[in-house]
Amino acid sequence: PIYGEGSHLDEAKLRFDRLKSKFAEVFGHHPEVYARSPGRVNLIGEHIDYEGYSVLPMAIRQDTIVAIRKRGAEESPKVLQIANVNDKYSMCTYASDPNQEVDLKNHKWGHYFICGYKGFYEYDKSKGIDVGPPVGLDVIVDGIVPTGSGLSSSAAFVCSATIAIMAVFNMNFPKKEIAQLTCDCERHIGTQSGGMDQAISIMAKSGYAELIDFNPIRASDVQLPAGMKPNEAILKVKTLSDVEQLCISFAESRGSADPQVAVKEFLNEKPYTAEDIEKIILEPLTSILKNSATSLDVLKAAKHFKLFQRASHVYSEAKRVYAFRDTVLAKLSDDDKLSKLGDLMNESHHSCSVLYECSCPELEELVKTCRDNGGLGARLTGAGWGGCAVALVKDSIVSQFIIKLKELFYQSRIDRGIINKNETDLYVFASKPSSGAAIFKF
Ligand code: ADP
Ligand code: MG
Repeated sequence: PIYGEGSHLDEAKLRFDRLKSKFAEVFGHHPEVYARSPGRVNLIGEHIDYEGYSVLPMAIRQDTIVAIRKRGAEESPKVLQIANVNDKYSMCTYASDPNQEVDLKNHKWGHYFICGYKGFYEYDKSKGIDVGPPVGLDVIVDGIVPTGSGLSSSAAFVCSATIAIMAVFNMNFPKKEIAQLTCDCERHIGTQSGGMDQAISIMAKSGYAELIDFNPIRASDVQLPAGMKPNEAILKVKTLSDVEQLCISFAESRGSADPQVAVKEFLNEKPYTAEDIEKIILEPLTSILKNSATSLDVLKAAKHFKLFQRASHVYSEAKRVYAFRDTVLAKLSDDDKLSKLGDLMNESHHSCSVLYECSCPELEELVKTCRDNGGLGARLTGAGWGGCAVALVKDSIVSQFIIKLKELFYQSRIDRGIINKNETDLYVFASKPSSGAAIFKF
């Protein structure tokens, strides 16, 4: 690697080779560099990064690799051509003008690359760096992070795209700044990202989970206790299209409004700040407690009771993140640590489920199945409302645990044709904490 760690290199060798020949086939050249960024699983600290509270994720082995080549000034076309090894994603072409407007209403997968491209130019401009007139770029993307499943394929993509662009322009920015820059980039796409996904994808270190703090973004290594592989089993509920089905069943079972709207509200439109909460909840509540409430105050308080629940989740979850880190550092036996960490994960799930209401029946069933079969703790991870769960499982029983899960949770889904039998390894897998973003030149 010319940037970052290369610990996953052997595993990715086949993919690098495949990318190289695909690149030659599509563009008639070899790539100049390859950039790699991992997906992540959040161990604890859900829905709190966009409130500015610390979170504790780790990078997973599934990642996105971007192969890139800058065309010479004399070469045409002077456009960005972004291809994908996955036929599902047809080639996207964009003008190379970094000031171009991108039609975000018309979602295209290539937008994740363009947001990195625009962000790169904006960053240079803000630092007074002149990268010269725009040229053409040839790009091929190879991602193996399951998409739309709470493992952050989008950050893996945006981060690998941004550092690939940085590399072909011979730039080298500090990691913390890339983490901030890529977070801003993804916000341009319309995701109110709090910054966790990009920060861990950029700053992860092999073998460690990271405590990520915000404002400014920082990462501190957290070495997990021996005998424990925290995300020994990351359990995907279903695929992206099925997540929609999940949402529907959520709506039916809760009789709630359109869950997609709920997701939007909680993720994109309403990142509640402490001031919001004080204004909307504490003021009317205080007047009620002081016996000076008008009926309007009571109404307001009732209306915002949901918000109070959300806030209770945020504050208690923020405390659990530090409790998790402190448990890892405490002078306890490994067994005691594991059992405490499991309890914290279970509490986190309960809070997500009951207070933040971001679970769904399938996730509840999955989490319960994990706990009933040797999981010391299990929780939904990622945004929720479908997606993914993470379980804390002792090293010694991992294989057995995965077999049990396939049998008890996934078999009925195979029987009903929701997932394919030969795909179950995509749905239940173990991953050690992977390294963060890196750039390779061969
Ligand atoms: P998550 O980040 O949880 O996987 P998002 O909805 O934030 O889910 O991002 C998923 C989107 O990111 C996909 O719909 C697609 O547009 C884009 N994406 C991610 N990885 C790739 C990839 N390897 N190739 C093409 N597009 C990708
Ligand atoms: Mg995402």
